[in-house]
Amino acid sequence: MKIVLLGAPGAGKGTVAKLLSEIDSSVQVSTGDILRAAVKDGTDLGKKAKAYMDAGDLVPDSLIMEIMEVRLREDDCGRGFILDGFPRTIPQAEALEGLLDRLGIALDFVANLEVPRDVILDRLTTRRTCSNPECQEIYNIKSNPPTPDGMCKKCGSPVIQRDDETEEAILNRLETYNEKTAPLIGFYEGKGLLRNFVSLSSKDTVGEIKKTPREVLSS
Ligand code: AMP
Repeated sequence: MKIVLLGAPGAGKGTVAKLLSEIDSSVQVSTGDILRAAVKDGTDLGKKAKAYMDAGDLVPDSLIMEIMEVRLREDDCGRGFILDGFPRTIPQAEALEGLLDRLGIALDFVANLEVPRDVILDRLTTRRTCSNPECQEIYNIKSNPPTPDGMCKKCGSPVIQRDDETEEAILNRLETYNEKTAPLIGFYEGKGLLRNFVSLSSKDTVGEIKKTPREVLSS
């Protein structure tokens, strides 16, 4: 499949993308994961992106398009791809259209994950991450807590609240989403590509996405 996942931070795009990629071996392409890896490795890209990410702001479109120009040309994307966290702005969506045209690829559809704001806020503020860069296991202090003394169950490192998961950064990420990313819903609706999914459970959402008629899916 060749799809874009749209949705606010905390809507579950990452989990849904992972589950979808297991269905037909399409690859999950997450700009957030690519950027976090670059920050961890201390690359030029990582150094340029870090301050934006920590504040909950978007990384400039030009940097994101440099990443995606390279990533979508890689062989594994020929199996299909699930774009998770990209595009995030109208200029990115327009640039993606141009890039896919040049590659001779058509998107199957755009899945918009709709999750109520209170659910999103609760999910984001209760999220914790293992501080070991090699592990980065995700926890939730309510539904999937670390050990009682706050350590990772997998590797034993301290579990922390990420810089972009402080309340201030979260509110900024949600505001940025409303201002810059939500307009993509209308953009893709106008192109006849949008499908909306009320998404309270990632598993159920994947079940619904799987019901998409075969003729809509390219592979
Ligand atoms: P995510 O894991 O998708 O929430 O992304 C984490 C952070 O990476 C975001 O808050 C942004 O700072 C940055 N980021 C990820 N994807 C994009 C994108 N497509 N455009 C701009 N910034 C992005």
